[in-house]
Amino acid sequence: MRGPADVQVVVLMGGLGTRLGGITKECPKSLVDVCGRPFFDYQLELLIAWGFKKFLFLIGYRADMIEEYFGDGSSRGISITYSQDGEKLLGTGGAVRRALPLLEDDFLLIYGDSFMDIDYAETLYRYEIGKRAGNRALMTVLCNNNRFDKSNVIMDGTRLVLYDKHDPKPEMDYIDYGVCMYERSLFAEFAEDEAFDISVIQHDLSVKGKLTPQIVTKRFYEIGSPSSLAEFTEYVKKRFNEKHPAVFVDRDGVINKIVWNDDIDQLDSPMKVDDFEFIPGAGEALMQLSENGYYVFVVTNQPGAAKGKTTLATLYDINTYMLETLSKEGAAVDDLFMCPHYPTLLPATKEKFLIRKCNCRKPEPGLIYRAMRKYNIDMSSSFMIGDSCTDVSAGAAVGLSTIFIGDLKCDLCKKLGELSPDYIAKDLKQAADIITRNG
Ligand SMILES: [Mg+2]
Repeated sequence: MRGPADVQVVVLMGGLGTRLGGITKECPKSLVDVCGRPFFDYQLELLIAWGFKKFLFLIGYRADMIEEYFGDGSSRGISITYSQDGEKLLGTGGAVRRALPLLEDDFLLIYGDSFMDIDYAETLYRYEIGKRAGNRALMTVLCNNNRFDKSNVIMDGTRLVLYDKHDPKPEMDYIDYGVCMYERSLFAEFAEDEAFDISVIQHDLSVKGKLTPQIVTKRFYEIGSPSSLAEFTEYVKKRFNEKHPAVFVDRDGVINKIVWNDDIDQLDSPMKVDDFEFIPGAGEALMQLSENGYYVFVVTNQPGAAKGKTTLATLYDINTYMLETLSKEGAAVDDLFMCPHYPTLLPATKEKFLIRKCNCRKPEPGLIYRAMRKYNIDMSSSFMIGDSCTDVSAGAAVGLSTIFIGDLKCDLCKKLGELSPDYIAKDLKQAADIITRNG
């Protein structure tokens, strides 16, 4: 499985930004100032944190300013190369086609005027799995119901049925999100200097059933208009400039029920979407935390695929189902951090790249560190909630107040030793009450 360091990121930055009026008179959209920094800095840092290192910027309008600001990327530990759009406007597809000699065989494509905070490891994984099944591209999609723009994608569960941006249909309730992956050869089929929109390729692949979807559950931000720029500016203030407390929540046994697994004759995490069942009151508790100003982060060990009980794709599907359901109920989770690893190779293991002695599997606090790198967290007033001693240990290791869910049995007390939890609650709702001082 290829990691972010091996994958080229191509960024469309040539747009004129005419809807921003005076703001882009002197400066390209990607350099528009947001709280003292150029817009694209925020997205670039996100990608660097995921481990991406190879960038190709497709530039046109005020190209000189972009090259001057970002340079060759070496000061950020990455490499940036540039492709000039040229005189004739070629559209998004034509701009990528023009850069053909610089494109790698497979690449990630994003827009220089959008902030897209998604699980990029999932993107690379799904693209690779799709490729093995004969697909040639990946499209991220968001359940939209015409919230941001006209919906243009029909999904059937986790299958993408149709993408069409020019012929809206009532069954369309998803929208293309703006992060895609492509085979280079798709662009080689077009003539140089031919103007076309990338949606032509995406539509064609969707009709042929060759477009892999990735459902994402967090909204995107873009700065195409003064109102969307104002919206992103507010978001940046809250996310990067102000500190907020957080609640780190374990998943299984806290948000959803542990289920009986016939294969191993034991209680276990759900191994398929149909087995996922919310614990009553969990959504409400998450909403309560959120409304009281806490970030809500799910931190979860999911070694099921590493142990060969299911696939990583299914583990992602289960998380997506949970996040989408919560989001529809208004109980947004700010982020989810999953450790899919297991330290020991088992006879049933198929996805061997998941076997790793990592630092993210709780009781290690790696998932919490990952959240701390992404968000500006006030750790001194933050909490960890879980139903295992590993959750309590992970939280205590980084100085979080810990809440144990369930009955603290004596065998568990012994396991924890000095590390007894700060609070014990019967469920997530009671834990949320303790945190928000209603209990
Ligand atoms: Mg648990």
